[in-house]
Amino acid sequence: KPETITPTAYDIVYDFAPESLRGAKVLVTGSSKGIGEQMAYHYARFGAKIVITARSKDTLQKVVEKCLSLGAQEAFYIAADMSNESDLDRVVDFALKKLGGLDYLVLNHIGSTRIAMWDGDVEHAKWLMKINFFSYIQMAWKALPSLEKNKGSLVIVSSLAGKMPSPLTAPYVSTKSALNGFFGSLRHELAMKKSNVSISVCTLGLIDTETAMSKVKGKVNMPAYPATEAALNIIITGATRQPELFYPWFTYIWTLTKDWIPSFTDYVVQRSYNYNFICLTHTTIHSMT
Ligand code: NDP
Repeated sequence: KPETITPTAYDIVYDFAPESLRGAKVLVTGSSKGIGEQMAYHYARFGAKIVITARSKDTLQKVVEKCLSLGAQEAFYIAADMSNESDLDRVVDFALKKLGGLDYLVLNHIGSTRIAMWDGDVEHAKWLMKINFFSYIQMAWKALPSLEKNKGSLVIVSSLAGKMPSPLTAPYVSTKSALNGFFGSLRHELAMKKSNVSISVCTLGLIDTETAMSKVKGKVNMPAYPATEAALNIIITGATRQPELFYPWFTYIWTLTKDWIPSFTDYVVQRSYNYNFICLTHTTIHSMT
């Protein structure tokens, strides 16, 4: 086991076998930075063959070099924009060709969005849906035949926001709810077809990536958890073919209490956001425009 990895509850409960990832053929999206980058490094340490993708070519190249130095059997990158429909099939085709098939498709990328009051910008919501949702279902469909052949896994990186709506992120919340609904439904259909493919939907709390921390600064009061640990938990969830991951653990409690004790959840959610700061910023921006 790589030295940076400490056993988690998942290793013990789900009997994770790291050697199962040696030589595994993996495509990870949104892997130039943040959680996706950390997943690429973990897969590399496990000796997987990986394809990574995002828009920034230079960053991808550096991540690929590090993956190879960490032990990846093979590592390739392809620059692509997930808002561009033709890029989606191109990325999956590239991975199928370079790796000779796929064992894991890890869908992780997200388009950029603001933490702010909903201001009626429907075009932004449509654009975000295209990147955070429609690209996921198109890529999943394209990869399914190969995953089916290899008894593979689809891993969807979602968010607590998709289980428990939070304020100031209405378009983002919508895209994550759509992912949970779509892939929850698809999981039933695959089971009905006695498919070989497993689907894991990962519910994450606040994770300390550069993007997330810069956006929540001064606005959200909640603890952030390490990206490297989140990444490892996602990988183990996929490798052990679990239907869901809740990381950190309390995201599971929040998901349950949302329906059991809604008024308590509303209280906690509203306490987690710094309303004075946000209202002040909102008013300032509107008075300037
Ligand atoms: P980051 O912003 O750190 O990384 C996002 C990745 O997506 C980057 O590699 C970025 O690269 C890529 N990307 C962005 N836009 C596009 C695009 N149009 N086309 C292709 N690639 C794109 O995100 P995080 O690591 O913080 O989040 C990763 C996942 O985890 C997301 O699905 C997110 O919703 C989920 N999550 C994160 C939480 C957190 O607190 N961090 C909490 C809950 C869920 P580039 O810009 O080069 O294209």
